[in-house]
Amino acid sequence: MSEARTTELRRLLNRAAHAYYVLDAPEMEDPVYDRLYRELLELETAHPELITPDSPTQRVGGSPAEGFQSVAHRIGLLSLDNAFSAEELEAWYGRLLKVLDRTGDLAMVGELKIDGNALALSYGQGLLVRAATRGDGEHGEEITANVRTIQSVPLRLQLERPPEWVEVRGEALIPDGVFAGINAEREGRGEALFANPRNACAGTLRQLDPKVVAARRLDFFAYTLHLPDDWQPGPADPPRPRSQWESLQWLQAAGFKVNPNAALLPDLAGVEAFFTTWDTGRRALAYATDGVVVKLNDLRLQDAAGFTQKAPRWAIALKYPAEEAPSRLLRLAYQVGRTGVVTPVAEFEPVPLAGTTVSRATLHNADRLAELDLHAGDTIVVRKAGEIIPEVVRVLPDLRPAGAARLELPHVCPECGSELVREEGEAATRCVNSSCPAILRGALRHWVSKGALDVDGLGAKLIEQLVDRGLLRSIADLYGLDAALLASLDRMGAKSAENLVAALAASKAQPWHRQLYGLGIHHVGEVNAKGLAKAFPSAADLATATANTPESITAVFGIGTEIAQSLQQWFATPANQLLLQALERLGFSLAAETEALATGPETPLTGQTFVLTGSLPSLSRSAAQALIEAAGGKVSGSVSKKTSYLVAGEEAGSKLSKAKSLGVAVLDQAGLLELLKAGAP
Ligand code: NAD
Repeated sequence: MSEARTTELRRLLNRAAHAYYVLDAPEMEDPVYDRLYRELLELETAHPELITPDSPTQRVGGSPAEGFQSVAHRIGLLSLDNAFSAEELEAWYGRLLKVLDRTGDLAMVGELKIDGNALALSYGQGLLVRAATRGDGEHGEEITANVRTIQSVPLRLQLERPPEWVEVRGEALIPDGVFAGINAEREGRGEALFANPRNACAGTLRQLDPKVVAARRLDFFAYTLHLPDDWQPGPADPPRPRSQWESLQWLQAAGFKVNPNAALLPDLAGVEAFFTTWDTGRRALAYATDGVVVKLNDLRLQDAAGFTQKAPRWAIALKYPAEEAPSRLLRLAYQVGRTGVVTPVAEFEPVPLAGTTVSRATLHNADRLAELDLHAGDTIVVRKAGEIIPEVVRVLPDLRPAGAARLELPHVCPECGSELVREEGEAATRCVNSSCPAILRGALRHWVSKGALDVDGLGAKLIEQLVDRGLLRSIADLYGLDAALLASLDRMGAKSAENLVAALAASKAQPWHRQLYGLGIHHVGEVNAKGLAKAFPSAADLATATANTPESITAVFGIGTEIAQSLQQWFATPANQLLLQALERLGFSLAAETEALATGPETPLTGQTFVLTGSLPSLSRSAAQALIEAAGGKVSGSVSKKTSYLVAGEEAGSKLSKAKSLGVAVLDQAGLLELLKAGAP
């Protein structure tokens, strides 16, 4: 198993590295490359016999490209080891202390990890004589003519007594604004776009015509200095550095641009704070960074720590949380929503993404599933940018297990077994069995949701239990639930059962537009429900209009023919007519009562103003408001001398003290219900 996987990973990563380093046309997202690379590294660590000389773990970067002269580096240009979490950073620090045989804090320099291309610049007697790319770490491409066009690279060092030779390393980059301009031009000329600024920078440095490079306005930040042992500074020259921090100062004094955001950090806590600051701070920078680099400050200690085959032991790159990563598909699940739409959902091995761990992503519909060409056990690329919902971007067919089956939507509903339907021109595949338990559960959840009837204490789990036990077959059945029966269910106490029954009873007073929205008619959202409820003050009016004068429906602002058709279908369905009758029998008005009240006879609450605060034992805010308004009262948001009553629940705060200081009457839930009863005609 591991042998086959290492072979596949090697093949895939080598191809990606070639596309990235040689062709400057990446075919894989960087974090995806990094994760797969790590997987290979872990497999090779556990089974060293599987390491082959052509493994990407055995070399730095890519081979020098053809078309440029290959030059040997005076000192090897290595890569950096990465840490992706605080634990990995601590483990690195622990290893460093051990190698150095030290305890206590080590001072470090924090630098931004600029997402550009490393360059090695050689100066002879103070003059720039050679510039090379990193290449494979031992050999790079000679690109001196191109680098000479970078304004921030000094052609002559500003030193009184320049060393016989000096090697300076740093990062060439293209600022984001310039990058956008380059891509816009390329688009105009119909050329392929660069994937990111780093890639554009690599492509530019390898241009055969230095004029093109000059036009691209690259920039350069220096960060590493190699001086010959025998160099003695002149009287006006910066002293010989003994630390990384002093090296940065030396470089600046010699005429280089040094990134101003580097910081001297006394300990590991300082490193963590630096990382956190730049995780958000980087968004305001004019160029891309993909992490921070932490380097041991003392150069003698750096020497003592030394190198591994690929990277210095005294430095580490801390990468920002990835927004993309590979994962392996474990299962394709199917969700049936309240409108019967069947949605495929990928369940995969949990991966940390943009700060959270994700293990599920919706695949939307059958078309998306086909487009991805998803097979059982596939390695998939998952993305979650910022707060956005995770998505499956693509699959990596190279890592597909042999003989894996292609995945498709089922032909029958996974909940009720009835045949699924996909209408022409529609993306969605649906279950059209109105008694499908999944549809019923969805309809019930919607009915009690915040924007609809807003019933507290009836969550998805409880609804599932009630439907599974056959206690609920329609929305109307909710109102037949009794407290004793509810109390016998899992995780329900007598008190919460009573509260739920009270909350359901109170929900009958919710206004007509909420009742309409709660019915869950396809396309009728909260806003449309309000518009329709205003134009058609009762369910009967709306039903008649849908059947006889559909134009009066589309005349409502925001309502088009699609919604009108959906309403027409809904009201024409016998099961829905029965539901409306049942609701009416239960005491639902299915009509706008507030209108009638405003012009109707005065009730004892007319002209009274209420303010609600804190949480009431069984009434939600909107249910209490609906009851007050139905009885002719008004609800306002702030307490004043004109307030008639403050209705205070648990954790009432400043409103309660204000009411008391103004002498406003305070009621609890029981008091309010009492008053409403008295006020009822
Ligand atoms: P790296 O980018 O993780 O780190 C080393 C590099 O960091 C240095 O060479 C230097 O260029 C840069 N750097 C920036 N600021 C620095 C600073 N202040 N001090 C020191 N170095 C600094 O490692 P790598 O070996 O260059 O390459 C691996 C990277 O290339 C990974 O991010 C990987 O995702 C990407 N890659 C991607 C693909 C792909 O297909 N997408 C293929 C190969 C490599």
